[in-house]
Amino acid sequence: MAKRVYQVWKGNNVFIFRGRLIFGPDARSLFITISLIVVPVVIFCVFVGRHLLHKFHPYNAGYAVLVVAIAFTIHILLLLLVTSARDPGIVPRASHPPEEEFSYDTSEVGGRHTPSLQFPRIKEVMVHGKAVKVKYCDTCMVYRPPRCSHCSICNNCVERFDHHCPWVGQCIGQRNYRYFFFFVSSSTLLCIYVFAMSALYIKFLMDNDYPTVWKAIKKSPASLILMIYCFISLWFVGGLTGFHLYLIGTNQTTYENFRYRADNRSNVYNLGCLNNFLEVFCTKIKPSRNNFRAYVQEEVARPPTISRAREVEDEPAGGPRAKVEDDLELGGDLLKISQRRNYEEVDEEMGGRNSNGIHSVLSESELVIDPDTQAPVSRSEVRDSSLGRTSRNWDILPDVMATSSSATEGGVPLQKDAR
Ligand SMILES: [Zn+2]
Ligand SMILES: [Zn+2]
Repeated sequence: MAKRVYQVWKGNNVFIFRGRLIFGPDARSLFITISLIVVPVVIFCVFVGRHLLHKFHPYNAGYAVLVVAIAFTIHILLLLLVTSARDPGIVPRASHPPEEEFSYDTSEVGGRHTPSLQFPRIKEVMVHGKAVKVKYCDTCMVYRPPRCSHCSICNNCVERFDHHCPWVGQCIGQRNYRYFFFFVSSSTLLCIYVFAMSALYIKFLMDNDYPTVWKAIKKSPASLILMIYCFISLWFVGGLTGFHLYLIGTNQTTYENFRYRADNRSNVYNLGCLNNFLEVFCTKIKPSRNNFRAYVQEEVARPPTISRAREVEDEPAGGPRAKVEDDLELGGDLLKISQRRNYEEVDEEMGGRNSNGIHSVLSESELVIDPDTQAPVSRSEVRDSSLGRTSRNWDILPDVMATSSSATEGGVPLQKDAR
């Protein structure tokens, strides 16, 4: 029987509910994280909140103290689940190295010319008008999109990789960073809330039958324990919230901050404080590029679908774009066509429409001989002109770039046709 993608997954992830939820390999630490949240809240409800129920007579507002604590805890646990149980932005692995990047380097060995295959390990792409280097990942066999990094714990390339969080047991990346931030900042607020309510209860005790602090604490030691616990926790989660506010404001990832701090290099992703915040909180989260429940199929070479490409060419510029997968497929189809037809001809057709100016900086080694004209043309140029064609905005570029190695050259990614 055909296996599903999650059953043959090469990363170190843990799947539950038959591939519906994906965790990192250290997902067990979630139990510790959950108990660090739930246990203090239960102590708070039983030993503090319960006694505050009737302290605010006019409106029975004491009930609100408990309701807020419980509702806020559920909210935080849901954020934790969303952060750790979903695809953080894993770049699908390719099944073979990017053949379209090979260049035939003829070297003379023993008096004979022997062609040897090689492809550049680093490429440059333009982001906001500046050149950014992207590296080839040997494990995933793809060129990593800008800001993508390979998580050694999960063994996956993750887009806009921030860090691998051991508390959450998952990579923090493009698709879960927002929820991670809300989780951390909400935890900070919960700490402040529990601390404040515990202090309030001590004050109530002092105002009534226990005139000194020590007597009040003796009456409710749980309040003191909670206040100490929240005070210590606040240093961690509060500090983390502040740090991530700074990172969001300057449009950096934790990885970039640690890696490039010493370099003092300018940050090409910085769009200004407000736009950086809008990018993190107000942009649509990209759909996952992995369908973990799809059936794995054998790689079958597909004939180039020219009719499909014609359709694309007929589409009015700026028309509604289909799903990301479609873009990927188009990238693949167009590439195949571009290999069948005269490279220059295709380039001419498409080059003029490269409206966003995204194309890679070409290296000498990428020059190959055109089979028709015998003139050297650049494969990268052809490929990237199809990129410019299929990707109208910046967002799509990493997709196409990464999968141009996997989605092309007669092969299809494992899960694509399985849907
Ligand atoms: Zn990788
Ligand atoms: Zn990871």
